[in-house]
This record gives sequence, structure tokens and C-alpha cells, in this order.
Amino acid sequence: MKLILSDSDTRPQWKQQLSNSIVSVHKLLAILEINPSTLNLSEQANQQFSLRVPLPFVEKMTKGDPNDPLLLQVLPVLAEEEQSPGFSLDPLQEANANPVPGLIHKYKNRVLLIGAQTCAINCRYCFRRHFPYQENRIGSKDIESIIQYITQHTELDEVILSGGDPLANNDKTLNQLISQLNNIKHLKRLRIHTRLPVVIPARINQDLINWVNQSRLPITFVIHVNHPNEVDSALADAMAKLRATGNMVLNQSVILKGINDNAKTLIRLSEKLFEAGVMPYYLNVLDRVQGSAHFEVTEAEALQLIEQMMINTSGYLVPKLVRESAEIPYKMPIK
Ligand code: SF4
Repeated sequence: MKLILSDSDTRPQWKQQLSNSIVSVHKLLAILEINPSTLNLSEQANQQFSLRVPLPFVEKMTKGDPNDPLLLQVLPVLAEEEQSPGFSLDPLQEANANPVPGLIHKYKNRVLLIGAQTCAINCRYCFRRHFPYQENRIGSKDIESIIQYITQHTELDEVILSGGDPLANNDKTLNQLISQLNNIKHLKRLRIHTRLPVVIPARINQDLINWVNQSRLPITFVIHVNHPNEVDSALADAMAKLRATGNMVLNQSVILKGINDNAKTLIRLSEKLFEAGVMPYYLNVLDRVQGSAHFEVTEAEALQLIEQMMINTSGYLVPKLVRESAEIPYKMPIK
């Protein structure tokens, strides 16, 4: 399955792939040759948080399989309509730690910059699926306020560009932002949390490599892969380009029922990431966001899976099992 692109389109390949993303459930299922009547689809869930998935990610799914682990991450289903106790719109209460539009300051030494209003893919379990991105739209005035805030807070030594996906911005914008951050003397590191290279590997192009190479501050990339089928040769090539800049590439996953909640899958995921030059970093238990309860794996079950990983694979391939909480100013290891 290959993209059909206009010869006259001069945008970078990744931008073309981004705008050609599938946004229709029925079109997606037609591509995958799956009969919609065999699935518990929800129009309501789709209206609240619409389907969005780029074709390079669809190409990693198995045709004819309604239980494909990549498909289940993006398909709006009836289970999302259930109101489950303990699940809320803003489980990490980020709205309370939002001093300037576009900035979240909930950790002591680091701030999160909401680097874009959208993601390339809409993951059904995402804890920011109800985040008011419109209220956190960053204009040039907001960037000034953000830079001023970071400059005034000398206790900060790291800035994390986070989701919406920061790499959804064009390279010129990112280059300007990174240059401004580079000028803040007390900063020592940058981090970029992104799923874009996983769903559109062409995002790691020469323009991106150029601004990464120019940065005074080391940039750690934390990609987000949940299942070994997401790691293919195109992703491995993209990771090789990133690693050639001398920066670190880590992965974080979310443990998801019916997708990666068994030790064999998690070990295979770690092995494939390692082969692609990416170190497993965090395995997050689900943030309890409304509409995602059907994905939840209990902490006790997750701990058993980690134990199975420790028995059956090398220690450095076992990610840290963590959960996030609005009350705790760091990711809490689960033991
Ligand atoms: S922020 Fe990450 S998990 Fe959430 S929708 Fe975007 S890519 Fe998916």
C-alpha cells in the first residue's frame, strides 16, 4: 500500500503524509479489509476524540485482523462511552500547573512546553485526550511569555517539548524555539517527547537533523512505541539518523490491555527497540482518563509482567514500571 502524492507538491514528504492521514473510520477499515459490522464502533467517541492515523502506521497493521494491536490503539469503540469511577477528564490535573499558556510546570527542575496543538495520531488511551489545546495555542506573544518564565525560573535546568507532538511543527519554527532555549544560560538539557517518527518515520529528515546538530543543549528524544509491530526498518533507519547526531533515544510505552499486556510481547518490544538503537525507558501504567478504562491493566498484573521480563531477558531491556499522579512531583516507580 503506497501513498498517492501529487508531483507538484513541494512540501517535505512527512508533511504530505501528515496531511494524507486517515480521519475516516470507514476508510481505515476499507483499507484493512475489515467489515465494520464485526466491531463495536462508537460515533460518539469518534466525535469527542476523532480518529486520526497516518498511512505509514496503517501499513504496519495486519489486513483482515479486527484485533490488530495497532488498530486497537486508534479505533473509537463503544467501551469509551462508559463512565468509570476514578476516571476523569484531567487525571493529572495539569490545568492547575499551567502558569503561562503552553507551559506546564509540575516538576521542580523541568517544565513541559506543549509544543503543538495536535498529534499525528490520536491514541485512544491518551491522558491528554480532553486537554484544552485551543486554550494553549502558542502564538509569538506566548512564546515570549514562555521564554521569559523559563528565564526567570533559574531552578529549571531542562525543558521538555511534549504532546501535542512537538515534531508536528515545521523545522523553521522548531529551530527558532530551540535557539531561544539555547540562549537561556541555566538550561542544561532539552527533551523531546514524540510519537511522530513512529507513525511517520520520514519526519526524521535532513532539516531536522540540521537544527538538532546546531543545538548547544543535548537533546534526548523519547519516542513512544507500545508494540513490537510498530518497529520496522523505516523506524530503525530514522533512529539511526537521530543517534548519529550523538543524542540519546529512549522509549516509553503504556501498558494496555489486549495490546501489550503479556511478557512475551513486552520482551519482543524491548529487543526490537534495542536492535533499532533505542533503549527501553518507562513502562507507564494507564493514566485514568475518561474513556480509557477498557485499556487498564492493574498494578499487580503489571508487576507480574515486569517480574517475567526480569526472569526472561537482560536487565537493561526491562523498562521502569511507573505511574504518574497529580500529587507526586515525579514519575513514581511501582515496586
Ligand atoms: S500525546 Fe502521545 S499518546 Fe497522546 S495522542 Fe498524542 S501521540 Fe498519542
